[in-house]
Amino acid sequence: MKIGTRIIHTGETDERTGAVSVPIYQTSTFAQKSVDHFGKYDYARSDNPTREAVEEAVAQLEGGSRGFAFASGMAAISSALLLFSPGDHLVVCEDVYGGTFRVLTQLFSRLGIESTFVDATDPAAIEAAFKPHTKGLFLETPSNPLMKIIDLAAASRIAKAHGAITLVDNTFMTPYLQRPLELGCDLVLHSGTKFLNGHSDVICGFAVVGDAELGKRIRFIQNAFGAVLGPQDSWLVLRGLKTLKVRMEESQRGAEKIARWLAGEKRVDQVFYPGLKDHPGFDVHSRQASGPGAVLSFTLDSLETTRRLLEGMRLASFAVSLGGVESIISYPAKMSHAAMPPAERAARGIGDNLVRLSVGLEDAEDLIEEMDRLINC
Ligand SMILES: *Cc1c(COP(=O)(O)O)cnc(C)c1O
Repeated sequence: MKIGTRIIHTGETDERTGAVSVPIYQTSTFAQKSVDHFGKYDYARSDNPTREAVEEAVAQLEGGSRGFAFASGMAAISSALLLFSPGDHLVVCEDVYGGTFRVLTQLFSRLGIESTFVDATDPAAIEAAFKPHTKGLFLETPSNPLMKIIDLAAASRIAKAHGAITLVDNTFMTPYLQRPLELGCDLVLHSGTKFLNGHSDVICGFAVVGDAELGKRIRFIQNAFGAVLGPQDSWLVLRGLKTLKVRMEESQRGAEKIARWLAGEKRVDQVFYPGLKDHPGFDVHSRQASGPGAVLSFTLDSLETTRRLLEGMRLASFAVSLGGVESIISYPAKMSHAAMPPAERAARGIGDNLVRLSVGLEDAEDLIEEMDRLINC
C-alpha cells in the first residue's frame, strides 16, 4: 500500500465497539482479574490503548517495528539520548535544533556524554569526527534553520562501520516525504508538535526504531523515565495524522511558489530551500526524499526589512514552532536558536537578517502579496 492509504488505515477499529475513531482511554490504571495473570494493560505510564494506537500509526508510517510517544519532541530526543552512558561520544550535525544543542551541551555533557558538532553535509567531516568511543551519530536533514542536506545513506554507513547508531530528527520531512529507517538509519525522532499533529494544539514527540533489540531498550527508557504522552493528546495526534498527506502536499506547493518568488526579489539575499535547483543539497535531497517540504528560510538586505516583515505579517503568525495549518514566520536568532551563544550562532550562519517561514494552508498568492508589500515598501 502507498503511504497515502497507510496514513488513513494505520490502526484497527476498536475491538469492543467497532468505533472508527480510537476512543480516548482517559484512565491511569486498569483493574486486574487474577492475582496470577495480569492483563495487557496495568498502568498507563507503561501502556495506554490510545497512546498505543498513535505509536503504531507513526511506527508504520516510518516503516519501523515500534514507535514510542513522548510528552514533547525534546522528551523523545532526551529519552533516546539516555541510550548512551558516561564516556560515550556523539557526532552531531552542526545546525541541529537549538533545544537539542542545549540538552547536549548543558545536560548530557554533565552526565559525561560528550558531543562533537560537525558540518555533516560533508561525509568526510563525519568520518573525521569519529573517535574510538563514538556510539552515536545524530542528524537532522533538512537542518534547522538553514535547510542543509545530509546524505543519510552515506552517513549511516559511516556510523555502522564504526559500530555506532544513527539517530535522525525527521520533524521537517515527516514520513510522508522521507523515511530514514529505509536509508539505513537506526532511530527516527520527531517533534510531533509540528507537521505530524499539524494543528498547533499539542506538544508531543515520537521515537521509531526498526531493530527489535533497540526497541526494547527505548521501551525500557520510556517506561522507566516516564516522559509519556497522555491519551487526550494521543487522540488529537491520531486525528491530525489523518490529513498528513493533504497538508504536506498543499503546504509544500505553497512553499515552492514562495521560494521561487523570494529568489527573484532584490531585497532578499539568499533563499534556503531544498526545492530550488541551485540549493547545494538539491540532488542528495531529491534522492532521499520525495519532496522539499514546507519550511524555508531566507536572509533579507537589512535588519530594518527583517523587522518590518516579522512584525507586519498578518497572514503568518510571528511565533516559534512550525508545521501548523497556519503559516508561521519566525526569527531563529531570537527564537529557535536563542539557546545558542551568539558567536556560535554567527559561526553557523544564523545571522540577524535570517527569517524562517513554515508555510501553512493559506493561498500562497495571498502570502506572497503580503510579503511583497512588507519587503518592498
Ligand atoms: C520543535 C522541534 C523540536 C523540539 O520539539 P518539542 O515538541 O518542541 O519539544 C525538535 N526538533 C525539531 C527539528 C523541532 O522543530
